[in-house]
Amino acid sequence: MLLAACSSPDSTDAAVDGRTTSAPSSAAIAFVGVNVVPMDREAVLENHTVVVEDGRIVSVAPADEAQVPEGAQRIDGAGRWLMPGLTEMHGHVPGPDNPAYAEDVLFLYVSNGVTTVRNMAGNASHLELRDGIARGDLLGPRLYAASPWLSPDKAGTPESAEQAVREYQAAGFDLIKLGSIPPDAYVRMAETAHALGMPFAGHVPREVGLTGALDARQASIDHLDSYVEFLVAEGAEVSGRDPGWFGSGVVDLVDTDRIAEAVERTLVAGTWNVPTLSLIEHLASAEPAEAMIRWPEMRYLPQDVLDGWVRSKREVQSRDNFQPLAAQQLVELRRRLLKALHDAGAPIALGSDAPQFFNVPGFSIHHEMRMMAAAGLTPYQVLATGTREPARYFGTPDAFGTVEPGRRADLILLEANPLDDLANVQRRAGVLVNGRWLPEADIQARLQRIAETVGEERQVAE
Ligand SMILES: [Zn+2]
Repeated sequence: MLLAACSSPDSTDAAVDGRTTSAPSSAAIAFVGVNVVPMDREAVLENHTVVVEDGRIVSVAPADEAQVPEGAQRIDGAGRWLMPGLTEMHGHVPGPDNPAYAEDVLFLYVSNGVTTVRNMAGNASHLELRDGIARGDLLGPRLYAASPWLSPDKAGTPESAEQAVREYQAAGFDLIKLGSIPPDAYVRMAETAHALGMPFAGHVPREVGLTGALDARQASIDHLDSYVEFLVAEGAEVSGRDPGWFGSGVVDLVDTDRIAEAVERTLVAGTWNVPTLSLIEHLASAEPAEAMIRWPEMRYLPQDVLDGWVRSKREVQSRDNFQPLAAQQLVELRRRLLKALHDAGAPIALGSDAPQFFNVPGFSIHHEMRMMAAAGLTPYQVLATGTREPARYFGTPDAFGTVEPGRRADLILLEANPLDDLANVQRRAGVLVNGRWLPEADIQARLQRIAETVGEERQVAE
C-alpha cells in the first residue's frame, strides 16, 4: 500500500472551488483498510476496502481480498471509519440574487458531510443548481427541489391550488412545499398532487390540522407541525387561546395520553416526520442570542442573517405564551413525541431547517443529531434518519444512504467511530461527494476563504 499517496491524495484548490471545469473524475478511488459503518444494519466492518468508480461504490470487501484497480487513488483508511453521507431533509439554498453566496452555502453543507439536501421552498434557480450538481458542473449536495412555498396568495382557492400544483410539476420541481392555505384549497392541492405523482410536504395549515394532513397522505410533516394542537386534552378550554408558535400557547393543555393516538394515526398514514428539533430548541434555549451568534460556525454567514436571528429570538421570547416554562414544556414534549414516533416505527428523517434560527447550513445537522440523541435515540438510530431513511423516503432505497456496491459514492471518512458518539461525525478526514474526494485540509482551506469573504463584507457594512 502506498502510504505516501494515501496520506496526501491529490489536493488542489480546484477540487473545492464551486465551479469545476469537468465532471467528477472517473478514476477509481479506494479507501484502503477502513472500518466501514455500512448503515444497512448496526455493524462495523473492520479493515475493509471500499472501491469507488464513476461516482458509484463498486465493491466493499475485506482488505486482504479486495481488488483495487490499477491507477486508483488510494486513501488510507487504517484507524478510520467510513460512513454514508448525510441528508438534510429540510434545508434552504439561497435564491439567484447572489450566486457566489449560494455556491458557498452549497459548500457549507458538503463540508459537513451533508451530501444530499431536500431544498424546501424553492425557485426556478434551484432547478439549474440541482441539474448542474448532478452533472458534476457544480460542487454541492445532491438536491431535491421543492416548489416555491404554497401561500394563500398563490393557492388560496381550490382552482388556484390545482393550477399551482400543475405549474410546479410541469416546471420540474420534485415536490410541493406547503404553506398555510385554506382547507378546501388544501384538499384540491392534495388530489391534484396525488394524481400527478407529486409529493407535498412541509407545514400543516392550521385549519387542516394533523388529522387532515394525515388523511391526505402528506409526504412529510416538518417541524412536528400541528402535533401539539392535536394533543390538547378533549374538552380543554381553548377559547381565547392562541396556539402560538408551534403550539407553545396551548402546551399546558396537552394530555400526553393522546400521544399514542397521534403516533397510531401517523403510522397508518405512512407520513414521514422531519422534526427539526433545533429550529425550536435554539429559540427556546436560555442561551442569549448574542452568545449564540459567536458560535464558531457563525463566521460563515453574513451579518444581516445573524442580526435577523437575534431579533427573532428576542421577539419570540418576549411573547406571553413563550415564557420559560412553556418553552421548556414545548421542548420536552417534542422530544417525547419524537421518541414515541420513532419507537413505534413511524418514519423519521433528519432535518434541521438551515439557515433558520442559528442553524448554519451543514453545521446545524450536528446540533440536530445531538438533540435527537437527547430525545432518547441511539447514535445508530439517529444516523439512520440521516442516511438510509431519506433514501427510503425518496422511494430509492438502493440509490444512496448505505455503504454497499451500487450506491452513489457519497461518503464521510472519520477519525473516530460515529456509532460511539455522534460528535465523532465532526472528526472528519474528508468527504466524498458525487464521486469527488475532498480531503479535510482542502475543506478547511475553502471554509477559511468563505469566512474571509464574509468578514470583509461585514467590515464594508459597518
Ligand atoms: Zn424551512
